[in-house]
Amino acid sequence: MNKELMIEKHSILKDMMAYKPLLWQNPRYEKTDLATAELDFTISDIIDAEARLRRFQPFLEKAFDLQGIIESPLLELEGYRPVKLFMKADHALPISGSIKARGGIYEILRYAEQLLFKNNLLTIEDDYSILNTQAFQKFFSRYEIVVSSTGNLGLSIGIISASLGFKVKVHMSHDAMTWKKEKLRSIGVEVIEHTSDYSQAVIEGRRASDLKSNSYFVDDENSINLFMGYAVSALRLRDQLDKLKVLVTDDSPLFVYIPCGVGGGPGGVCYGLKEVFGDRVHVYFVEPTHSPCMLLGMATETHDEYCVQDFDIDNITIADGLAVGRASKFVGKTIDKMLAGISTVSDDTLYKYLKDMVDRYQIKQEPSALAGFQGLDDILNADPVHGHMTITKEQVQNGTHIVWSTGGNMVPEDIMTKYYRNAQEV
Ligand SMILES: *Cc1c(COP(=O)(O)O)cnc(C)c1O
Repeated sequence: MNKELMIEKHSILKDMMAYKPLLWQNPRYEKTDLATAELDFTISDIIDAEARLRRFQPFLEKAFDLQGIIESPLLELEGYRPVKLFMKADHALPISGSIKARGGIYEILRYAEQLLFKNNLLTIEDDYSILNTQAFQKFFSRYEIVVSSTGNLGLSIGIISASLGFKVKVHMSHDAMTWKKEKLRSIGVEVIEHTSDYSQAVIEGRRASDLKSNSYFVDDENSINLFMGYAVSALRLRDQLDKLKVLVTDDSPLFVYIPCGVGGGPGGVCYGLKEVFGDRVHVYFVEPTHSPCMLLGMATETHDEYCVQDFDIDNITIADGLAVGRASKFVGKTIDKMLAGISTVSDDTLYKYLKDMVDRYQIKQEPSALAGFQGLDDILNADPVHGHMTITKEQVQNGTHIVWSTGGNMVPEDIMTKYYRNAQEV
């Protein structure tokens, strides 16, 4: 279908093209029925992923001096908004300081384990800390990992792969931050810089990897492994809420707001939350007004058929982690009936939240990580809140709201200072 016909059929596109911040409520959102959803995975795959992460725990502790599992705190933000509000602080995740420490690290550990099992070098009963030795490093050095990234996925995959001894190549899109590239080069990762955006970097990365038999391409758009790594967060969040004695009920449901790029991270979290909390959780994604690829894909039900640039939306945003022009079709289809809605946020508003979090709570995040707050504010202001599934104003007021913070701990001090200065000026 040509652009004009699409715009005629889907009037939301006009507002998107005008870079207007929007709240789109998913008309296909409905009661969860995962048993008949015909997905290629179930809750047992999430539990399997969690068990695998536990097997690797002794290795991770040795290789990274890790205290405890790769998990982020759940911080209460008292007084920021007139509802019970928490921040899921993935900006503080160990090893790579972003939500990509979930999916990215999990996928590489899974691949490493498969290689070792296939070569009879490891069993499930072994103490995986033996992987932190030269013999295993030498084994992994025969294999290559390739990934394309706007920055954080490359950082996560690069750090974990290099620690095991893999050769690593990271294809970076033009918006990737210089410090992320430098960090990777400093640990021996080969960084290939592209002048194109993320989607083109994926095509190039995949092509280079497919030419070699010992090369493994991490497919951000289609990987079920990445997805499961993200989904594990739902089990962890349930435990954290239990510990804090936060009850999730029909009258007091969970509202979760997650920044979205290509969709894998927030999609995996959304799927996991639906498995764990069912209809007592409502998940919203938030994208930059300049990169609303998931909104484009889901609102028009064309998924990855079009990119935002096809509608003259420029994909230029300070939120580098969300600067994706074409959404994952796999994710869009999977969450088609699970996702409550999508908000879009301007760069100026991201800066406003960034400054708020530093001033009030001394929490430092990268701009992408703050997008969730727009979702929260949209739902608090939406009147009445409705979709295919009824969500009442009372449920919003009595509910527990969780803004997912997705990155920031590795941002160098001088860059963070620059962000804050820019925030003072908007
Ligand atoms: C990657 C990323 C996201 C979104 O994840 P996608 O899988 O691309 O949707 C959000 N925030 C930050 C900081 C990220 O790096």
